[in-house]
Amino acid sequence: MSLRLKFNLVLAAVLLLAAAGAGGYVHRFVQQSAIEEVQHNSQIMMHSAMAIRDYTTELIKPHLDVTLAEKFLPQTVPAYAATETLRRLQSRFPGYEYKEAVLNPTNLRDRANEWEERVINDFRDGKAELKKEVTGEVGEGMHRAMYVARPITIKQPQCLACHSTPQVAPPTMIKVYGDKNGFGWSMNETVGIQVVKVPMYFPLEKARQTFYNVMGALVASFVLLFVVLNLSLSSLVIEPMARLNRKLEDLATKDFLTDLVNRRRFFERLEAEMAETRIRKSSLSVVMLDIDFFKRINDTFGHDSGDVVLKATALRVRELLRSSDCAARFGGEEFILLLKETPVDAAMAMAEAVRARIASVPFDSVGHVSASFGVATWDHKEDSHALIKRADTALYVAKSRGRNCVVQAEEAK
Ligand code: GH3
Ligand code: MG
Ligand code: MG
Repeated sequence: MSLRLKFNLVLAAVLLLAAAGAGGYVHRFVQQSAIEEVQHNSQIMMHSAMAIRDYTTELIKPHLDVTLAEKFLPQTVPAYAATETLRRLQSRFPGYEYKEAVLNPTNLRDRANEWEERVINDFRDGKAELKKEVTGEVGEGMHRAMYVARPITIKQPQCLACHSTPQVAPPTMIKVYGDKNGFGWSMNETVGIQVVKVPMYFPLEKARQTFYNVMGALVASFVLLFVVLNLSLSSLVIEPMARLNRKLEDLATKDFLTDLVNRRRFFERLEAEMAETRIRKSSLSVVMLDIDFFKRINDTFGHDSGDVVLKATALRVRELLRSSDCAARFGGEEFILLLKETPVDAAMAMAEAVRARIASVPFDSVGHVSASFGVATWDHKEDSHALIKRADTALYVAKSRGRNCVVQAEEAK
Protein backbone atom coordinates (compact mmCIF):
# COMPACT_ATOMS: atom_id res chain seq x y z
CA MET A 1 0.00 0.00 0.00
CA SER A 2 1.49 3.35 -1.02
CA LEU A 3 2.26 6.06 1.52
CA ARG A 4 -0.35 8.35 -0.08
CA LEU A 5 -3.05 5.66 0.07
CA LYS A 6 -2.27 4.90 3.73
CA PHE A 7 -2.24 8.60 4.59
CA ASN A 8 -5.52 9.19 2.73
CA LEU A 9 -7.21 6.22 4.40
CA VAL A 10 -6.21 7.48 7.86
CA LEU A 11 -7.16 11.06 6.94
CA ALA A 12 -10.51 9.97 5.47
CA ALA A 13 -11.25 7.89 8.58
CA VAL A 14 -10.39 10.83 10.88
CA LEU A 15 -12.43 13.30 8.80
CA LEU A 16 -15.40 10.91 8.63
CA LEU A 17 -15.29 10.43 12.39
CA ALA A 18 -15.00 14.19 12.90
CA ALA A 19 -17.90 14.83 10.48
CA ALA A 20 -20.04 12.18 12.17
CA GLY A 21 -19.21 13.55 15.65
CA ALA A 22 -19.74 17.17 14.63
CA GLY A 23 -22.90 16.17 12.69
CA GLY A 24 -24.36 14.45 15.75
CA TYR A 25 -23.52 17.38 17.98
CA VAL A 26 -24.80 20.06 15.57
CA HIS A 27 -28.00 18.09 14.92
CA ARG A 28 -28.72 17.75 18.65
CA PHE A 29 -27.82 21.40 19.24
CA VAL A 30 -30.04 22.91 16.50
CA GLN A 31 -32.95 20.59 17.36
CA GLN A 32 -32.63 21.47 21.03
CA SER A 33 -32.46 25.20 20.20
CA ALA A 34 -35.59 24.89 18.05
CA ILE A 35 -37.47 23.09 20.84
CA GLU A 36 -36.30 25.68 23.39
CA GLU A 37 -37.49 28.46 21.09
CA VAL A 38 -40.92 26.81 20.83
CA GLN A 39 -41.03 26.28 24.61
CA HIS A 40 -40.10 29.91 25.18
CA ASN A 41 -42.82 31.11 22.80
CA SER A 42 -45.40 28.87 24.42
CA GLN A 43 -44.46 30.22 27.86
CA ILE A 44 -44.89 33.79 26.56
CA MET A 45 -48.34 32.84 25.20
CA MET A 46 -49.34 31.18 28.45
CA HIS A 47 -48.18 34.11 30.59
CA SER A 48 -49.90 36.58 28.26
CA ALA A 49 -53.14 34.65 28.76
CA MET A 50 -52.64 34.70 32.54
CA ALA A 51 -51.93 38.43 32.43
CA ILE A 52 -55.10 39.11 30.42
CA ARG A 53 -57.12 36.92 32.79
CA ASP A 54 -55.75 38.73 35.87
CA TYR A 55 -56.31 42.12 34.27
CA THR A 56 -59.92 41.20 33.44
CA THR A 57 -60.62 39.83 36.91
CA GLU A 58 -59.00 42.69 38.79
CA LEU A 59 -59.66 45.74 36.64
CA ILE A 60 -62.58 45.06 34.29
CA LYS A 61 -64.97 42.66 35.98
CA PRO A 62 -65.62 44.76 39.18
CA HIS A 63 -66.79 47.69 37.03
CA LEU A 64 -69.11 45.66 34.85
CA ASP A 65 -70.58 43.28 37.45
CA VAL A 66 -73.18 45.92 38.25
CA THR A 67 -74.71 45.51 34.82
CA LEU A 68 -74.98 41.72 35.20
CA ALA A 69 -78.58 41.90 36.37
CA GLU A 70 -79.63 43.62 33.15
CA LYS A 71 -77.20 42.26 30.61
CA PHE A 72 -74.62 39.45 30.64
CA LEU A 73 -71.33 40.65 29.17
CA PRO A 74 -69.03 37.72 28.25
CA GLN A 75 -66.16 40.25 28.11
CA THR A 76 -66.17 40.16 31.93
CA VAL A 77 -65.37 36.44 31.92
CA PRO A 78 -61.53 36.08 32.22
CA ALA A 79 -61.48 32.99 30.01
CA TYR A 80 -63.43 34.78 27.29
CA ALA A 81 -61.17 37.87 27.49
CA ALA A 82 -57.95 35.79 27.21
CA THR A 83 -59.32 33.63 24.37
CA GLU A 84 -60.61 36.57 22.35
CA THR A 85 -57.46 38.67 22.80
CA LEU A 86 -55.04 35.92 21.82
CA ARG A 87 -57.25 34.87 18.90
CA ARG A 88 -56.38 38.21 17.35
CA LEU A 89 -52.72 37.10 17.21
CA GLN A 90 -53.54 34.34 14.77
CA SER A 91 -53.68 36.47 11.64
CA ARG A 92 -50.13 37.64 12.33
CA PHE A 93 -48.82 34.36 13.83
CA PRO A 94 -50.71 31.49 12.23
CA GLY A 95 -50.83 28.31 14.28
CA TYR A 96 -50.38 30.09 17.64
CA GLU A 97 -53.50 29.24 19.66
CA TYR A 98 -54.86 29.78 23.14
CA LYS A 99 -57.90 27.97 24.37
CA GLU A 100 -59.62 27.29 27.64
CA ALA A 101 -60.78 23.79 26.88
CA VAL A 102 -63.50 22.55 29.26
CA LEU A 103 -65.33 19.20 29.43
CA ASN A 104 -68.67 20.84 30.08
CA PRO A 105 -68.33 24.51 29.05
CA THR A 106 -70.94 27.27 29.21
CA ASN A 107 -69.85 28.50 25.78
CA LEU A 108 -69.77 25.49 23.47
CA ARG A 109 -66.88 27.02 21.57
CA ASP A 110 -64.72 26.05 24.56
CA ARG A 111 -65.57 22.34 24.47
CA ALA A 112 -62.46 20.20 24.72
CA ASN A 113 -61.55 18.15 21.66
CA GLU A 114 -60.34 14.55 21.81
CA TRP A 115 -56.70 15.09 22.85
CA GLU A 116 -57.61 17.99 25.15
CA GLU A 117 -60.09 15.68 26.90
CA ARG A 118 -57.29 13.16 27.42
CA VAL A 119 -55.07 15.84 29.02
CA ILE A 120 -57.96 17.08 31.23
CA ASN A 121 -58.67 13.52 32.35
CA ASP A 122 -55.00 13.01 33.18
CA PHE A 123 -55.27 15.97 35.55
CA ARG A 124 -58.61 14.74 36.90
CA ASP A 125 -57.28 11.17 37.40
CA GLY A 126 -54.32 12.56 39.30
CA LYS A 127 -51.79 11.40 36.67
CA ALA A 128 -50.67 14.98 36.28
CA GLU A 129 -51.60 15.85 39.85
CA LEU A 130 -48.25 17.09 41.02
CA LYS A 131 -47.64 19.09 37.89
CA LYS A 132 -48.87 22.60 37.54
CA GLU A 133 -48.31 22.28 33.83
CA VAL A 134 -47.84 19.56 31.23
CA THR A 135 -46.28 19.84 27.78
CA GLY A 136 -46.58 17.57 24.78
CA GLU A 137 -46.87 17.44 21.03
CA VAL A 138 -49.89 17.16 18.76
CA GLY A 139 -50.38 17.00 14.99
CA GLU A 140 -47.99 15.91 12.25
CA GLY A 141 -45.94 17.48 9.47
CA MET A 142 -46.85 21.11 8.87
CA HIS A 143 -49.35 20.92 11.74
CA ARG A 144 -46.96 19.56 14.33
CA ALA A 145 -47.27 21.75 17.43
CA MET A 146 -46.18 21.88 21.03
CA TYR A 147 -48.84 22.38 23.68
CA VAL A 148 -48.61 23.62 27.23
CA ALA A 149 -51.58 22.86 29.43
CA ARG A 150 -52.50 24.07 32.93
CA PRO A 151 -55.48 22.70 34.83
CA ILE A 152 -58.53 24.90 35.44
CA THR A 153 -59.57 23.91 38.94
CA ILE A 154 -62.46 25.53 40.86
CA LYS A 155 -60.82 27.21 43.85
CA GLN A 156 -63.12 30.16 44.47
CA PRO A 157 -66.75 29.70 45.59
CA GLN A 158 -67.90 32.66 43.45
CA CYS A 159 -67.10 30.59 40.34
CA LEU A 160 -69.99 28.32 41.28
CA ALA A 161 -72.37 31.28 41.04
CA CYS A 162 -72.43 30.72 37.29
CA HIS A 163 -71.62 26.97 37.13
CA SER A 164 -73.40 25.05 39.91
CA THR A 165 -77.07 24.98 38.85
CA PRO A 166 -79.10 27.03 36.36
CA GLN A 167 -81.29 28.14 39.26
CA VAL A 168 -78.53 30.16 40.95
CA ALA A 169 -76.88 31.33 37.72
CA PRO A 170 -77.48 34.91 36.53
CA PRO A 171 -80.60 34.88 34.35
CA THR A 172 -78.90 37.16 31.86
CA MET A 173 -76.25 34.48 31.35
CA ILE A 174 -78.89 31.77 30.92
CA LYS A 175 -80.46 34.00 28.32
CA VAL A 176 -77.23 34.06 26.30
CA TYR A 177 -75.99 30.48 26.77
CA GLY A 178 -79.09 28.51 27.83
CA ASP A 179 -79.46 26.24 30.89
CA LYS A 180 -78.00 23.04 29.46
CA ASN A 181 -74.24 23.51 29.50
CA GLY A 182 -71.65 24.63 32.00
CA PHE A 183 -73.40 23.47 35.20
CA GLY A 184 -72.71 20.85 37.81
CA TRP A 185 -69.19 22.04 38.57
CA SER A 186 -68.02 21.61 42.15
CA MET A 187 -65.29 23.00 44.39
CA ASN A 188 -61.75 21.69 43.73
CA GLU A 189 -62.88 20.00 40.56
CA THR A 190 -60.62 20.24 37.50
CA VAL A 191 -63.09 21.18 34.81
CA GLY A 192 -60.72 21.91 31.95
CA ILE A 193 -57.35 23.19 30.89
CA GLN A 194 -55.80 26.39 29.70
CA VAL A 195 -53.93 25.27 26.67
CA VAL A 196 -51.42 27.03 24.45
CA LYS A 197 -50.42 25.62 21.05
CA VAL A 198 -47.27 26.79 19.32
CA PRO A 199 -46.34 25.50 15.82
CA MET A 200 -43.13 23.47 15.62
CA TYR A 201 -42.85 22.96 11.86
CA PHE A 202 -41.07 26.21 11.00
CA PRO A 203 -38.55 26.23 13.87
CA LEU A 204 -37.76 22.57 13.12
CA GLU A 205 -37.50 23.31 9.40
CA LYS A 206 -35.17 26.22 10.20
CA ALA A 207 -33.12 23.88 12.42
CA ARG A 208 -32.93 21.34 9.56
CA GLN A 209 -31.76 24.04 7.14
CA THR A 210 -29.16 25.27 9.66
CA PHE A 211 -27.97 21.71 10.12
CA TYR A 212 -27.55 21.17 6.36
CA ASN A 213 -25.79 24.54 5.95
CA VAL A 214 -23.36 23.83 8.80
CA MET A 215 -22.70 20.30 7.56
CA GLY A 216 -22.27 21.58 3.98
CA ALA A 217 -19.71 24.14 5.16
CA LEU A 218 -17.99 21.48 7.30
CA VAL A 219 -17.80 18.97 4.45
CA ALA A 220 -16.53 21.70 2.08
CA SER A 221 -13.82 22.60 4.64
CA PHE A 222 -12.90 18.93 5.01
CA VAL A 223 -12.67 18.49 1.23
CA LEU A 224 -10.44 21.59 1.06
CA LEU A 225 -8.35 20.23 3.93
CA PHE A 226 -8.11 16.88 2.17
CA VAL A 227 -6.93 18.49 -1.08
CA VAL A 228 -4.49 20.88 0.64
CA LEU A 229 -3.03 18.08 2.79
CA ASN A 230 -2.67 15.88 -0.28
CA LEU A 231 -0.91 18.63 -2.24
CA SER A 232 1.31 19.35 0.78
CA LEU A 233 1.99 15.64 1.15
CA SER A 234 3.10 15.49 -2.49
CA SER A 235 5.34 18.55 -2.42
CA LEU A 236 6.70 18.21 1.14
CA VAL A 237 6.97 14.47 1.62
CA ILE A 238 6.30 12.17 -1.34
CA GLU A 239 8.27 13.98 -4.06
CA PRO A 240 11.36 14.70 -1.87
CA MET A 241 11.18 11.10 -0.64
CA ALA A 242 10.91 9.77 -4.19
CA ARG A 243 13.94 11.90 -5.19
CA LEU A 244 15.83 10.63 -2.16
CA ASN A 245 14.81 7.05 -2.94
CA ARG A 246 15.96 7.43 -6.53
CA LYS A 247 19.26 8.80 -5.26
CA LEU A 248 19.63 5.95 -2.77
CA GLU A 249 18.68 3.46 -5.44
CA ASP A 250 21.32 4.95 -7.76
CA LEU A 251 23.92 4.89 -4.99
CA ALA A 252 23.08 1.28 -4.22
CA THR A 253 22.91 0.00 -7.77
CA LYS A 254 25.00 2.21 -10.07
CA ASP A 255 28.66 2.63 -10.70
CA PHE A 256 29.33 6.32 -10.19
CA LEU A 257 32.18 6.53 -12.76
CA THR A 258 30.67 4.80 -15.79
CA ASP A 259 26.96 5.11 -14.94
CA LEU A 260 26.56 1.39 -15.65
CA VAL A 261 24.91 -0.82 -13.03
CA ASN A 262 27.17 -2.23 -10.33
CA ARG A 263 28.07 -5.81 -9.57
CA ARG A 264 25.30 -6.19 -6.95
CA ARG A 265 22.51 -5.11 -9.28
CA PHE A 266 24.01 -7.20 -12.09
CA PHE A 267 23.63 -10.34 -9.96
CA GLU A 268 20.02 -9.43 -9.16
CA ARG A 269 19.27 -8.91 -12.87
CA LEU A 270 21.06 -12.13 -13.81
CA GLU A 271 19.13 -14.21 -11.24
CA ALA A 272 15.83 -12.73 -12.48
CA GLU A 273 16.69 -13.29 -16.15
CA MET A 274 17.81 -16.86 -15.44
CA ALA A 275 14.42 -17.57 -13.85
CA GLU A 276 12.63 -16.13 -16.84
CA THR A 277 14.89 -17.94 -19.31
CA ARG A 278 14.13 -21.21 -17.51
CA ILE A 279 10.37 -20.62 -17.88
CA ARG A 280 10.66 -19.59 -21.53
CA LYS A 281 13.16 -22.32 -22.26
CA SER A 282 15.24 -19.78 -24.19
CA SER A 283 18.96 -18.99 -24.03
CA LEU A 284 21.05 -16.50 -22.10
CA SER A 285 24.73 -15.56 -22.32
CA VAL A 286 27.23 -13.47 -20.39
CA VAL A 287 30.29 -11.73 -21.76
CA MET A 288 33.14 -10.75 -19.46
CA LEU A 289 35.66 -8.21 -20.75
CA ASP A 290 38.82 -6.76 -19.29
CA ILE A 291 40.81 -3.85 -20.71
CA ASP A 292 44.28 -4.91 -21.73
CA PHE A 293 47.31 -3.40 -20.06
CA PHE A 294 45.19 -0.88 -18.28
CA LYS A 295 47.78 -0.42 -15.56
CA ARG A 296 50.11 0.80 -18.26
CA ILE A 297 47.55 3.44 -19.35
CA ASN A 298 47.29 4.68 -15.79
CA ASP A 299 51.04 4.69 -15.39
CA THR A 300 51.68 6.45 -18.70
CA PHE A 301 48.82 8.98 -18.92
CA GLY A 302 47.71 9.29 -15.33
CA HIS A 303 44.81 7.96 -13.33
CA ASP A 304 42.38 10.58 -14.69
CA SER A 305 43.08 9.48 -18.27
CA GLY A 306 42.48 5.91 -17.09
CA ASP A 307 39.07 7.04 -15.80
CA VAL A 308 38.29 8.68 -19.15
CA VAL A 309 39.07 5.36 -20.89
CA LEU A 310 36.76 3.49 -18.49
CA LYS A 311 33.92 5.94 -19.20
CA ALA A 312 34.47 5.86 -22.96
CA THR A 313 34.60 2.04 -22.95
CA ALA A 314 31.29 1.93 -21.04
CA LEU A 315 29.78 4.27 -23.66
CA ARG A 316 30.95 2.14 -26.57
CA VAL A 317 29.61 -1.00 -24.92
CA ARG A 318 26.28 0.63 -24.29
CA GLU A 319 25.92 1.87 -27.85
CA LEU A 320 26.08 -1.68 -29.15
CA LEU A 321 23.75 -3.31 -26.63
CA ARG A 322 20.02 -3.87 -27.09
CA SER A 323 17.73 -2.23 -24.55
CA SER A 324 16.86 -5.63 -23.08
CA ASP A 325 20.55 -6.37 -22.35
CA CYS A 326 22.45 -5.19 -19.32
CA ALA A 327 26.04 -3.97 -18.96
CA ALA A 328 27.73 -3.67 -15.58
CA ARG A 329 31.11 -2.60 -14.27
CA PHE A 330 32.24 -5.73 -12.54
CA GLY A 331 35.20 -4.10 -10.86
CA GLY A 332 38.36 -2.14 -11.78
CA GLU A 333 38.68 -2.28 -15.59
CA GLU A 334 36.42 -5.33 -15.91
CA PHE A 335 32.93 -5.22 -17.41
CA ILE A 336 30.25 -7.85 -17.78
CA LEU A 337 27.36 -8.05 -20.23
CA LEU A 338 24.09 -9.93 -19.81
CA LEU A 339 22.59 -10.89 -23.17
CA LYS A 340 18.96 -12.06 -23.02
CA GLU A 341 17.65 -14.70 -25.40
CA THR A 342 21.09 -14.97 -26.94
CA PRO A 343 22.59 -18.33 -27.89
CA VAL A 344 26.35 -18.77 -27.97
CA ASP A 345 26.91 -17.78 -31.64
CA ALA A 346 25.03 -14.52 -31.27
CA ALA A 347 26.85 -13.86 -28.00
CA MET A 348 30.21 -14.46 -29.71
CA ALA A 349 29.18 -12.08 -32.51
CA MET A 350 28.17 -9.41 -30.01
CA ALA A 351 31.44 -9.82 -28.08
CA GLU A 352 33.37 -9.56 -31.32
CA ALA A 353 31.47 -6.39 -32.26
CA VAL A 354 32.30 -4.79 -28.91
CA ARG A 355 35.94 -5.88 -29.15
CA ALA A 356 36.20 -4.31 -32.61
CA ARG A 357 34.44 -1.11 -31.48
CA ILE A 358 36.97 -0.69 -28.63
CA ALA A 359 40.06 -1.65 -30.54
CA SER A 360 39.39 0.06 -33.88
CA VAL A 361 38.76 3.65 -32.78
CA PRO A 362 41.54 5.32 -30.75
CA PHE A 363 40.64 6.85 -27.39
CA ASP A 364 41.18 10.60 -26.76
CA SER A 365 44.69 11.36 -25.54
CA VAL A 366 45.64 7.70 -24.90
CA GLY A 367 45.32 6.29 -28.41
CA HIS A 368 44.47 2.66 -29.17
CA VAL A 369 43.13 0.48 -26.37
CA SER A 370 42.03 -3.13 -26.57
CA ALA A 371 40.14 -5.57 -24.40
CA SER A 372 39.93 -9.34 -23.99
CA PHE A 373 36.64 -11.25 -23.85
CA GLY A 374 35.28 -14.45 -22.34
CA VAL A 375 31.83 -15.66 -23.44
CA ALA A 376 29.66 -18.22 -21.59
CA THR A 377 26.14 -19.39 -22.43
CA TRP A 378 23.98 -20.67 -19.62
CA ASP A 379 23.47 -24.45 -19.54
CA HIS A 380 20.17 -24.16 -17.60
CA LYS A 381 21.70 -26.08 -14.68
CA GLU A 382 24.54 -24.06 -13.16
CA ASP A 383 24.00 -21.11 -10.82
CA SER A 384 24.90 -17.51 -11.62
CA HIS A 385 28.33 -17.71 -9.96
CA ALA A 386 29.27 -20.81 -11.94
CA LEU A 387 28.16 -19.16 -15.18
CA ILE A 388 30.27 -16.05 -14.49
CA LYS A 389 33.20 -18.21 -13.42
CA ARG A 390 33.12 -19.92 -16.83
CA ALA A 391 33.12 -16.56 -18.64
CA ASP A 392 35.99 -15.40 -16.42
CA THR A 393 37.99 -18.53 -17.22
CA ALA A 394 37.44 -17.93 -20.96
CA LEU A 395 38.60 -14.33 -20.46
CA TYR A 396 41.72 -15.60 -18.73
CA VAL A 397 42.38 -17.83 -21.77
CA ALA A 398 41.86 -14.81 -24.07
CA LYS A 399 44.51 -12.95 -22.07
CA SER A 400 46.87 -15.88 -22.37
CA ARG A 401 46.27 -16.05 -26.12
CA GLY A 402 47.70 -12.59 -26.53
CA ARG A 403 44.71 -10.38 -25.58
CA ASN A 404 42.34 -8.35 -27.89
CA CYS A 405 40.39 -11.49 -28.71
CA VAL A 406 37.16 -13.33 -27.80
CA VAL A 407 37.17 -16.83 -26.30
CA GLN A 408 34.15 -19.05 -25.81
CA ALA A 409 33.89 -20.91 -22.51
CA GLU A 410 33.60 -24.30 -24.25
CA GLU A 411 37.01 -23.75 -25.89
CA ALA A 412 38.52 -22.74 -22.57
CA LYS A 413 37.85 -26.05 -20.83
P1 GH3 B 1 45.81 -7.15 -18.13
O1 GH3 B 1 45.95 -6.89 -19.59
O2 GH3 B 1 46.44 -8.44 -17.74
O3 GH3 B 1 44.44 -7.05 -17.69
O4 GH3 B 1 46.67 -6.05 -17.43
P2 GH3 B 1 46.11 -4.80 -16.64
O5 GH3 B 1 47.21 -3.82 -16.47
O6 GH3 B 1 44.93 -4.30 -17.35
O7 GH3 B 1 45.70 -5.48 -15.30
P3 GH3 B 1 46.06 -5.16 -13.84
O8 GH3 B 1 45.12 -5.98 -12.98
O9 GH3 B 1 47.53 -5.40 -13.62
O10 GH3 B 1 45.81 -3.65 -13.59
C1 GH3 B 1 44.50 -3.10 -13.51
C2 GH3 B 1 44.62 -1.67 -13.10
O11 GH3 B 1 43.41 -0.96 -13.14
C3 GH3 B 1 45.15 -1.52 -11.69
C4 GH3 B 1 44.29 -0.46 -11.07
O12 GH3 B 1 45.02 0.58 -10.49
C5 GH3 B 1 43.52 0.07 -12.23
N1 GH3 B 1 42.21 0.52 -11.86
C6 GH3 B 1 41.24 -0.16 -11.17
N2 GH3 B 1 40.16 0.60 -11.00
C7 GH3 B 1 40.43 1.82 -11.58
C8 GH3 B 1 39.70 3.03 -11.71
O13 GH3 B 1 38.57 3.19 -11.29
N3 GH3 B 1 40.29 4.05 -12.38
C9 GH3 B 1 41.56 3.94 -12.89
N4 GH3 B 1 42.08 4.97 -13.53
N5 GH3 B 1 42.27 2.83 -12.73
C10 GH3 B 1 41.74 1.76 -12.10
MG1 MG C 1 43.21 -5.51 -17.49
MG1 MG D 1 41.56 -6.78 -14.50
